[in-house]
Amino acid sequence: MEHTLYDVIISGTGPSGAAAARGLSNAGLKVLVIEKNRLPRYKMCSGIIFKKSQDLTEKHFGQIPDTAYVKPRLLSGVRLWSDPERFADWPFNKNGDGAPNIWRSEYDNWLITHSGAEIIDGCTVKGFNDFGNHVTVECYHTAYKKTMSFTCKYLLGAEGSKSVVREKLAPEFEKGVKWFVAYQNYYEGASDLDPNFYHGFLELQYGEVYAWFNIKDNLHIFGTAVKLGGKLHPYLATYQKMLETRFGLKTGRLIRKAGCMGNDMCSKGRFYLGKGNILLVGESAGFLNAFGEGISCALSSGLFAAEAISKGIKSGADALALYTELTRVERRQTQISWKLGSKIAGRDLMPL
Ligand SMILES: Cc1cc2nc3c(=O)[nH]c(=O)nc-3n(C[C@H](O)[C@H](O)[C@H](O)COP(=O)(O)OP(=O)(O)OC[C@H]3O[C@@H](n4cnc5c(N)ncnc54)[C@H](O)[C@@H]3O)c2cc1C
Repeated sequence: MEHTLYDVIISGTGPSGAAAARGLSNAGLKVLVIEKNRLPRYKMCSGIIFKKSQDLTEKHFGQIPDTAYVKPRLLSGVRLWSDPERFADWPFNKNGDGAPNIWRSEYDNWLITHSGAEIIDGCTVKGFNDFGNHVTVECYHTAYKKTMSFTCKYLLGAEGSKSVVREKLAPEFEKGVKWFVAYQNYYEGASDLDPNFYHGFLELQYGEVYAWFNIKDNLHIFGTAVKLGGKLHPYLATYQKMLETRFGLKTGRLIRKAGCMGNDMCSKGRFYLGKGNILLVGESAGFLNAFGEGISCALSSGLFAAEAISKGIKSGADALALYTELTRVERRQTQISWKLGSKIAGRDLMPL
């Protein structure tokens, strides 16, 4: 296996990697996807499939399986609280039933296992060497405790916000990236907040980005985010206290706590799409919409990269130039979403 020449190697099995894998496999190309975690892997996410994500999913993969859905199965919309007494509702779709509410572990695993690509999990991409006409990808397999090397024509970084491929490809660009830390708890419990909505609390006393609350399979999930290096827990404590006193939140057993990092590429419109035969998709390229909606642009950028690379391989087109052109509207929409988000919130939503 280590000596096969792949057309494309994809680092990461999130929606961007899965969509790219699907598009490339459909074009008849030989694709390997490398994932650092064992599958199905946990992903910190509210797991709301917005209309565009649902449409892309159904078009390219089919109906989301029942196993991915949680209770409540569909969410009515986002409820944004300007303070604990005042809110505005943003319905997911005016005439439909609502947005699918899913566990990312199940949804993402279904996507990647239906992508048609070969998959290696438990294997971390550590670096690569670009030789112009081919790329070698260096990885470490945790279970085998061994370094592995694979060769491909194109490498696709689909590793989310913290991308090894981007770090190695563009160290200068990386120096200018600013980071936030997000954290959330999953509790058994009860509260008066409507479980059919995803709730966002915009007051700065609850977090530097915004604080959120939602219910999945009776778990009460709430979290917040601050600049990297800042103290998150005082914000979380103030937020939890407000949820308890205003919304009757009662926390039982703590089932999970999770954290992750994100960056300001999206809100600043600083996309990094790649260099030569190495392309970036999804959050690793900067695709993330306001309020942290990122599945739709992960799927679309993955599909655009697949189209560009397929044409690169089949007709010698410049894949990066084509990918840049294909993502023009998506990039503009991402930037518009942040402007709109700031207008709705009445402040900068990513003050890093
Ligand atoms: C708290 C929170 C809530 C959110 N809620 C929503 C929501 O409700 N709806 C929505 O649309 N979006 C939401 N998002 C955003 C969404 O989760 C992301 O935008 C989306 O997952 C990005 O997809 P991706 O494919 O780019 O990356 P990811 O989904 O992050 O996938 C990257 C994959 O790459 C793997 N990987 C990383 N490094 C390596 C490596 N070196 N080698 C191999 N594999 C590697 C990771 O393990 C992971 O599996 C939320 C985000 C957060 C933080």
